Order: sequence, then C-alpha cells, then structure tokens
Amino acid sequence: MDTKIEKLPPETTRKKTLSKKHIRRNEKAEKLYKNGKLVPVCRETFLNILRLKKGRVQGVMRRYFGTQQSATERRGGNRKKHLYASKREAVQNFIKKFKPLEIHYSREKHTNRLYLHPDLNIHKMWVMYNDQVQPDFGVTLGFFRLVFNTSFNIGFGSPRQDVCSTCLQFSETLKIEKASAKKVNIMTQARIHKLRAAAFFDNLKEERDDLLVLSFDCQKNLPLPKIPDQATYYARQLYIYNFTVVIGSSSQKLTKENVHAYTWTENESLKGSNEICSCLFNCLNNIDLTGKTVIRMVADGCGGQNKNMMVLGMTMKWLANAPENIKTVEIIYPVTGHSFLPPDRVFAFTEKQIRKLEIIVHPDEYRVIFSNHATVHNLASDIPVLNWKQSCKDILKLLAKLALPNQQMQTGYSYKK
Ligand SMILES: [Zn+2]
Repeated sequence: MDTKIEKLPPETTRKKTLSKKHIRRNEKAEKLYKNGKLVPVCRETFLNILRLKKGRVQGVMRRYFGTQQSATERRGGNRKKHLYASKREAVQNFIKKFKPLEIHYSREKHTNRLYLHPDLNIHKMWVMYNDQVQPDFGVTLGFFRLVFNTSFNIGFGSPRQDVCSTCLQFSETLKIEKASAKKVNIMTQARIHKLRAAAFFDNLKEERDDLLVLSFDCQKNLPLPKIPDQATYYARQLYIYNFTVVIGSSSQKLTKENVHAYTWTENESLKGSNEICSCLFNCLNNIDLTGKTVIRMVADGCGGQNKNMMVLGMTMKWLANAPENIKTVEIIYPVTGHSFLPPDRVFAFTEKQIRKLEIIVHPDEYRVIFSNHATVHNLASDIPVLNWKQSCKDILKLLAKLALPNQQMQTGYSYKK
C-alpha cells in the first residue's frame, strides 16, 4: 500500500474564526497520502475501520518521522522458516524415498496414514539421512522430527490396535460430558457395546457335541527377503500370505492338527475373497464332521477378505452339497475392536519366531516356521484357486434380491438346509 499517514500540519487548525465544533472536528482529522496527495480523513473512522488504537498509529507516525522509514519487524514467531527451506525439502525428499508397507488390515479411518517398516523409527531415519547427505544439508534430530511430523502422516509397523477405538471414544466423551442425561446415554451405549463383544466371545467359546466352531483370519503380509539391510526399506518386497483356520472353540488347545495354515506368495495368487473362499472350501471338505449338525464360522470383519458376499455364497454352495448330518451353518463377525481370535494367537507364536531370525530369503523358511504350529498347505501349487465369483453368480443374485438393508453386511448369518 502506498498510502502513508501524516499528521495534519498545524495550519489546518488555522482559522480562529471557525466555530468550536469545526475546530474539534479538524483536530480529529489526519491526512493520508494517496497517489502522492494528502487527503484528510476522519481519525475516528480511520481507527475504527482498521480496528487500531490511537497510540499505535501515533507510534508508527513518530518512528516514520524520525527515520523516514517504516519500522523494522521485531515481533516473535518463526520468521527464519525460509532460511531452512532447502533443508526441509531435502528431508522431505529423503522421507519420500521410503516404501510404505501394505498393511493387511486397516480400519477405514486410517486410509491417509502410511506405515513404514516396524524396525524403523525417526531416530534411525535421521541417522540414515545425515549419513547420506552433503555436510551442509545435515539437520538436527529436532528439525528432522518436526518435518516428519508436520509434512507427513506416517506411522511405523502395524495399525492393529490393542485398545478398541469405540471403547476409548466412550470413555473419553464420558470424562468431558457434564449433562447427566447424556452421561447415562453414553454409559448405556458403552454397556451394549461391551455386552455385544462378550456375546461374541461366548459364541466363540461355546462347546457342544453337535457344534463345530471354525475361526479364520489372515496374518499380516510377511516380506521376502527379510535381511538386515537398509536397502529393503526403499524397495518393494515380495509378500508371502498366510491364511489360518483354527478348528475348535477358543477354549480348546491349539495343536498342529486343528490349526491349518494356507500359504502362498503374491506372485502365485492375489489375496482376495476368491483365495479365502478356496482355502475355506478346501478346509470344510477335509475336516471330520461326524456327529456335527451345526458349523459356526467366526472371522474378523475384514471386508476385502473375510466379510463379503462371496464368502456367504461359497458357504451356501458348500452347505447344499454337504454331508447329510450338517443342517446349519452360522457365520459370525465380531464387534469391531474386540476381534481377538484363536488364529491371532497362532500368529503371535509364529511372529515371535520370525523376529528372532535375522535372515529369511526363501518362502519355505517361513513355511517351516508355520509348520511348528500348524499343518501347512500351499495354495495355488497344491490347492487350486477356484473361480468363486463365477460359480456363486446365481447365489449372489439371489442374495441381492433378498436385499440386505443398505447393502451393509450384518454381524451374523445363519443358513439352514
Ligand atoms: Zn470396544
């Protein structure tokens, strides 16, 4: 803006013949330079429009008259930001070089968050950055952390949470809620949520002579090769998948006989509902069903793999041709956040063993570890991947006609012959 403020020269209050009212008005006037001309403005209007106090304008004027220059900026804040722009950019480019992991299971709200290898952390990355960068681009850990936290949304390792986010939400809102009516409402909701979770675990625990419980889930993607080399952090690795079915309720002991691990590498087949259905179908056809009338399948509600129409279609198809004694198949999905299933216990055992090994280069090395806790099957090479999309077409059409409300999957299904 090239408008400048100048105090009204004394001669404008010149005429003693002016009425008192005029004098008062003129005293309150200032003059602004506009296009090189002095223009009188009402002081009060000027101050009100700019929401300034009189003293502030006077201070600016005083300094301007003294030096004929605008005052220098002496306020606080990060005014050196531009000085570090090149370093900031270098750090950003460095962080972008890392390949995020493909997480097998992520809740919808995590879609923008990326995950790096769980062995990494900010300190390690900072050391790696300073090792590879030219000396004048070196940064402090604090600066590196700042860029990491403010320019990206990156975490390390698996997004699987131990604490249920719904439970956490209830407990936190309860802390700040003042109105007692609302408090009661939240407490009721939390109680229902917990009861539903407990009911789910009761279903998983139940033991009856005529009931067979199956629980299944996918392990997180395991990378190949697993080597202690920084290069793996930058490269896209080959994944091996492990889909595990546990036969029996959650109170039964885990043995190699009742745990079945279906494994395949990503070059052999995808990791979608088609593969899951093929594994499940194989499992259902190969277990001893004598004396059972009800099969209860329990799975984590992961939409891409376990919780979808194709699994329902496959189950119906299997039930239609199942042994005479099988009358009912139930499918139960847990309450989100409370989905610790028997397969997760198996995964915990295998992952503990995997962590101990520094180098794994062949898929069979993973399979040896799986075989310590499960009967291992190789999908694609030993067990065919069937085209369930094609063979379930008729059943899926029928399901669409029955029309689930809002096309949303429910938490449980039961099919009778
Ligand atoms: Zn919960």
